[in-house]
Amino acid sequence: MNVLVINCGSSSLKYQLFNTGEQTVLAKGLVERIGIEGSGLTHQPDGKDKVTITRQVANHREAIELVLQALVHGEHGVIKALSEIQAVGHRVVHGGEKFAGSVMIDDQVMKALEECSELAPLHNPPNIIGIKACQHLLPGVLQAGVFDTAFHQTMPDYAYLYGLPYELYQKYGIRRYGFHGTSHKYVSQRAAAMLGKPRSATKIITCHLGNGASITAVDGGKSVATSMGFTPLEGLMMGTRCGDIDPAIVMFIMEKEGLTVEQVNDLLNKKSGVLGLSGLSSDFRDLEAAAKDGHKRAQLALDIFAYDVKKYIGAYAAVLNGVDAIVFTAGLGENSILIRSMVCDRLDYLGVRLDNEKNQVRGQETDISAAGSAVKVLVIPTNEELMIALDTQRLVSGQM
Ligand code: ADP
Repeated sequence: MNVLVINCGSSSLKYQLFNTGEQTVLAKGLVERIGIEGSGLTHQPDGKDKVTITRQVANHREAIELVLQALVHGEHGVIKALSEIQAVGHRVVHGGEKFAGSVMIDDQVMKALEECSELAPLHNPPNIIGIKACQHLLPGVLQAGVFDTAFHQTMPDYAYLYGLPYELYQKYGIRRYGFHGTSHKYVSQRAAAMLGKPRSATKIITCHLGNGASITAVDGGKSVATSMGFTPLEGLMMGTRCGDIDPAIVMFIMEKEGLTVEQVNDLLNKKSGVLGLSGLSSDFRDLEAAAKDGHKRAQLALDIFAYDVKKYIGAYAAVLNGVDAIVFTAGLGENSILIRSMVCDRLDYLGVRLDNEKNQVRGQETDISAAGSAVKVLVIPTNEELMIALDTQRLVSGQM
């Protein structure tokens, strides 16, 4: 089955066309700067040269139109007709408490998605626009929604509720939702396969370390705790987000610096994290290079990040009552030899022993633990798009 996977952001749209039978990517690409000057499409057909088309793209519908044209194009296309697309799978950021799994999209689901928009005002509206555009441009093609939050809906109430008046949860749904769920699910399943155990018999800690970063405790294949919360701001310190801080700091800086709600939101989300601490960059490659050259605050940012990850691993080992494997994934988890070794340093009390030679790996599924390490340390490249395609195929097959 050919499944088109769509990930709509506020001004960008990523896509991949999968053949789910062979698990191959026929083409993938990106439309950038939607509604902004200088927009265009980068399209990578499998086995052919990359194509860049610079054209004004006013909205998401035009973006999807451009993608569909590229997919059937005489030269850089990969299918002959749009009828070869059997289903569309959409990444949706927030499913609130309504969605604990992927769903076929119908009118009722659309209504529920609109209701969830209040919880993710930056993310869900573009996701909804993308779905509507596909409904218009690919009439009759079945569409599924796959949620970042769904995998974490198995968390028990004592793991997802905050110490706030209970009425706030009832009134506004203020609770921990967690994000990156599709990634945590994918890598925990791959980890169970690498351990050679049924998912139900595994205790895994998955570290999704990218620009946005989160850690999840997966018990028997189910998420039981995760570091991101009501929004993706909580948990680990990240590229530009502050992660866990004393909430009183927010009121304090608003008062001292005379900041509005919007300004403080911007400060915590875009100017903090390793960028704010180092004063240099949000990219760990820059920080690693600068630290090597003796930049103290770059080193401090790396130290704090690795310390944060270690702290969550310790906490989740306690939550799980033991751990079989620690998984590193996403841009930094898959590529940063330094961060992985800093995190795993002095975790021997837990039974973690890293093999420094095996750790010299980037972007490849690898067991990097030393022989005899009680806890396996695994590098597993994430593949959220494949997960979305497979979920979509499963749902669509059920309807046929
Ligand atoms: P997101 O999807 O959250 O934007 P990614 O998962 O693509 O982020 O991760 C991006 C981050 O991965 C970059 O900011 C960079 O810090 C880190 N990264 C990528 N490659 C390397 C590398 N070779 N060494 C260290 N860090 C890296």
